[in-house]
Amino acid sequence: MDTERAKALVISEIEARHHQLGELSQKIHSNPELGFQEVKAADWLTRYLEECGFSIERGICELPTAFRGSYGQGKPAIAILAEYDALPDVGHACGHNLIAASAIGAAVACKSAIDRFGGSIIVTGTPAEELYGGKAIMADRGAFDNLDIAMMVHPGTHDVVTTEALACQTLEVEFFGEAAHAAARPEAGINALEAMIQSFNAINSLRQHIKPESRLHGIITDGGKAANVVPAHSAGIFMVRAEDDTYLDVLKQRVLNCFIGAATASGARLEYKWGDIRYAPMRNNLTLARLFRQNLQSLGREVLLSDPGNAFGSTDFGNVSQLVPGIHPFVAIASPVAAIHSSEFTAAAASEAGIQGLLDAAKALAMTVVDLVANPEIVVKVKAEFAGKISGQAQKKPRRN
Ligand SMILES: [Zn+2]
Ligand SMILES: [Zn+2]
Repeated sequence: MDTERAKALVISEIEARHHQLGELSQKIHSNPELGFQEVKAADWLTRYLEECGFSIERGICELPTAFRGSYGQGKPAIAILAEYDALPDVGHACGHNLIAASAIGAAVACKSAIDRFGGSIIVTGTPAEELYGGKAIMADRGAFDNLDIAMMVHPGTHDVVTTEALACQTLEVEFFGEAAHAAARPEAGINALEAMIQSFNAINSLRQHIKPESRLHGIITDGGKAANVVPAHSAGIFMVRAEDDTYLDVLKQRVLNCFIGAATASGARLEYKWGDIRYAPMRNNLTLARLFRQNLQSLGREVLLSDPGNAFGSTDFGNVSQLVPGIHPFVAIASPVAAIHSSEFTAAAASEAGIQGLLDAAKALAMTVVDLVANPEIVVKVKAEFAGKISGQAQKKPRRN
């Protein structure tokens, strides 16, 4: 059986499971579960894999809704990552129901190729992408050790094979001042809200003089209780994002200095805490990205190498991509102007276009697995790029004026 024949087989396998995969996705969509509470989704997904002959480990990495389903034992060990958490209020507005079903569909379809060429296919169930960075925790606990390649596909607004994701860490801050009557005894007060406002202004000034890909943003979660009382307490949450880890460390200190300066100026006492989860920047494996792109294009989609909108976020797949050669492409399921995390995207994640995206993602993933298990030299190339022995880098994006 040659590669093309094996690809035709995985495609027909996914088409045969079209209704089951669609149902699985819709079931998760109709039962949105928040991060680390995805009990039903993890149960449905592991059961499906088990029925298809995968060996299942539930609750891996001491996370009850994380799992691993594997088929085959050999090398290369290729993981397809599934996400299945939803968002508060807007449900599956990130379409993780489609990610889960596409991962399952792809892995199950690959069985014939694994039987024929060897290697192993693993579905890694990764909970809590949205709120807690589940993959960052799993990466620290060894979930991605011993893998050769990791892939997943996210629904989006363009067909694009690379992801620009920034290093990111959250900062929680509090100022403690002194309450006083705001009109009768203002001189007796120390204004914790003013300390917060000065911090915002300092960060806004700083923003002019940082690298363009960086992002600094925050909210005030406590700004006082009554207008006639000098606020004795204020609190806020900020996010600091940068293109790489080194610059993230530089920016973290500069942002913190804004709060320290405001504390000195106002006389309020500062307390702060950096978030436990540090998102790593995405490392796209371009050898793998081009392979996936060819496969997705063969299904009739026009696929871009990078996002035309230059949109940056952060994802816990970044942490995976630092350990294992990987890709995190997007398949379009909504119009280019639709916003992810909106109720419009929730609807798209349950639409016909959503299901079509799921099937195309599953097919392209499975075809890419076929390429990898049937052609060991491609795996060598993917790993050489990861090790920095060959350059997979496309030319840097032109700077915008
Ligand atoms: Zn999201
Ligand atoms: Zn998402």
